[in-house]
Amino acid sequence: MEQAGKKMLESAQKIIKKAAADLKVSAEMTEHLIEPEIAYEFGMTIRMDDGRRKVFKGFRTQHNSALGPYKGGIRFHPNVSHEEVQALATLMSIKCAVAGIPFGGGKGGIIVDPKHLSETELERLSRAFAAKLSLVIGPDRDVPAPDVNTNAKIMSWMVDEYEKIVGHKAPSAFTGKPIARGGSLGRTEATGRGGVIALKVLISKLKELHPETDLQTIAVQGFGNVGYYFAEIAAHSRFSIIALSDSKGGVMKANGKDYHSLDIPLVMKCKQEKGSIAGCYCAGGVCDLAGGKPITNEELLELPVDILVPSALENVINKDNMERIKAKVIIEMANGPITEEAYEYLSKKGVIIIPDVLANSGGVTVSYLEWVQGRQGYYWSEDEVNHKLEETMTRAFNSVWEVSLKKKIPLKQAAFEVAIQRILDAMGK
Ligand code: NAD
Repeated sequence: MEQAGKKMLESAQKIIKKAAADLKVSAEMTEHLIEPEIAYEFGMTIRMDDGRRKVFKGFRTQHNSALGPYKGGIRFHPNVSHEEVQALATLMSIKCAVAGIPFGGGKGGIIVDPKHLSETELERLSRAFAAKLSLVIGPDRDVPAPDVNTNAKIMSWMVDEYEKIVGHKAPSAFTGKPIARGGSLGRTEATGRGGVIALKVLISKLKELHPETDLQTIAVQGFGNVGYYFAEIAAHSRFSIIALSDSKGGVMKANGKDYHSLDIPLVMKCKQEKGSIAGCYCAGGVCDLAGGKPITNEELLELPVDILVPSALENVINKDNMERIKAKVIIEMANGPITEEAYEYLSKKGVIIIPDVLANSGGVTVSYLEWVQGRQGYYWSEDEVNHKLEETMTRAFNSVWEVSLKKKIPLKQAAFEVAIQRILDAMGK
């Protein structure tokens, strides 16, 4: 699995080099943009419930701080590696710069399968991680958040440990905290909501160029935090969600070539009852979702929809299926769902791809709003948070779109160029 991390790192560095070359950035400065400023790698010895002691390996990479404190999640997963953490930290530097928020990029992780830990072991490990890093993180230095297999509860343990060590309250040392501990309203929905905002801005831009633009039908892969809220919010914004899936398969609503919208809360209710979306269709005389029929994850990606929204895993659109993708627009809500090869193929074919560093930046944007609220000790209503998210996402989209149109380059390269230019400006280069 270190291999996957290496590949992710190579591909992030390759696109930085390409964007930097287009911006005529010097070789030394390009190297500076690629190399992390600091990388920590450390062991943590934890007492297990049976009295044994076990050592876990942790990482925190602080990639670039030209725009502000490092910002990025903490991942608990057996496949975490130094390379993966570095790649994700690099992409956070780009994502925060594209979003136009005053943060640099960071990322952390522990090699662990948290499903094999009891809650008390998980708490000890989380506290040990925060304690190890307590001297090199903080509201003005590096602000961690949840990522894969970490959540609000883990953030509350970490912020508690951090505050004990530094000896004062510091709610903005971590984001993604529970509301009761200084979390922000609107954070849970923010990534999905931000994706829908980006889609709407894209459609308004396309309509300026081609007034007949009509993009309605959507297929969403992944029904977790990102996919569920994207689908739910898009359905409320006149789009038709005709197919949804999770790891066990999906469902679509169709009658021959006639597609119909799925009822998202009903799909969620059915998933909660049956444990997966795949069970949610008509079986015998019993119909969970009238007109629903099961489909595989592969079939979902190849549906003739207007908009495809991969919101689960990386590399799901690749050289094996790229020729069968029929969507006109793809929104990369997951991190890296399209391989480099497929990205090039689809861009040349005229498919518009909103890149992950822009499409899913709603999450880090509301993390920034959480940080601001913690620092001022004054908390906004959900409507205020959503409004600020909309302003930030729209501004970010517009700046990427302008560069893409002006230079005739895909949105991904434009996003990297916007980000790199902002980082260089902050460095006075
Ligand atoms: P999650 O764990 O809440 O949900 C993941 C979903 O993907 C689940 O529905 C799961 O069943 C599904 N899934 C897993 N394997 C699958 C497979 N093989 N085929 C189809 N579906 C599969 O995770 P999430 O928070 O929704 O994150 C999803 C993606 O979005 C990840 O790439 C994550 O890095 C990225 N992302 C998340 C956030 C955030 O705020 N949560 C922010 C930025 C990026």
